[in-house]
Amino acid sequence: MDLNTVAEVVSPAGVGQWRPGDAWLAGGTALFGESRPAVRRLLDLAAAGWAPLTAGEHGLEIAATCTVAQLAAYAPPPRFESLRAITRGCCHAFLASFKIWNVATVGGNLCAALPAGPMIALTAGLDGECLLLAPDGSERRVPVSAFVTGNGATVLADGELLRSIDLPARALTGVATFRQGSLHTHGRSAALLVGRRDVDGRFTLTVTGSTWRPYALTFPSMPAAETLQVALTGTIPADGYVDDVHGLPAWRRHLTRTYAEEIRRELSS
Ligand SMILES: Cc1cc2nc3c(=O)[nH]c(=O)nc-3n(C[C@H](O)[C@H](O)[C@H](O)COP(=O)(O)OP(=O)(O)OC[C@H]3O[C@@H](n4cnc5c(N)ncnc54)[C@H](O)[C@@H]3O)c2cc1C
Repeated sequence: MDLNTVAEVVSPAGVGQWRPGDAWLAGGTALFGESRPAVRRLLDLAAAGWAPLTAGEHGLEIAATCTVAQLAAYAPPPRFESLRAITRGCCHAFLASFKIWNVATVGGNLCAALPAGPMIALTAGLDGECLLLAPDGSERRVPVSAFVTGNGATVLADGELLRSIDLPARALTGVATFRQGSLHTHGRSAALLVGRRDVDGRFTLTVTGSTWRPYALTFPSMPAAETLQVALTGTIPADGYVDDVHGLPAWRRHLTRTYAEEIRRELSS
């Protein structure tokens, strides 16, 4: 897609430079795939030079500009068992060539906010928190599960920037698993669920792919099968399931319930 209204690219760019008609540019793999006639200037984040992945006692900080390829190649500290269990699988749910993998960013995936965003599943499933920077210099933090509000919709205000996603250590040191399904072998995810059991026994199920936005269900201990199914029904509204060429809502709901039970059984053992 030619963005023929763009007259300037600012590189590298920072949050103070925002003005009307600007768009943040990360890998460009979503931005350059759609018509954006109102965009006059691109603010290049990829050139900002942020360290892609920073592990510490607190957990892991993923810079918004970390690419899918950098994340897939990352060898986390051994104690980050949950992270290791699901990272490669979530990266491979990103069904694109190596060219896309090498430029598409974790932050761009969250901001594009597609239901099948596998970086949304990964970071929401590990209790990620977004650090957002506003043009006036103020900061705020929002859980990933609340950052994406709908199909292509986020809580980002005009000119606000996603700087990083913080994964807390307590969500990285338990056990985790995921399930992904699509209509075709190489099709877009129709359902992508992440299950996590923390060292204190807490169980979290995060539903993405099948729904317009992520839903996280947390239980103090492993729930019974029926409790989990009832919670799914109570949490995800009937019109919360995606209806598009990649799968009908009834089928996505069925996949969601089936995968939820598979995850519950796997993490019960
Ligand atoms: C062949 C192919 C396959 C794909 N497969 C998938 C798939 O399976 N699942 C999926 O979800 N997507 C898929 N995509 C879409 C896209 O590649 C991904 O969503 C990708 O992660 C977007 O990241 P990016 O860095 O390229 O973002 P960009 O295209 O640079 O940006 C996307 C949007 O987010 C904004 N933005 C980017 N970074 C920030 C930031 N830090 N702060 C604020 N705003 C920001 C941009 O202004 C733009 O509106 C695919 C695309 C292609 C071409």
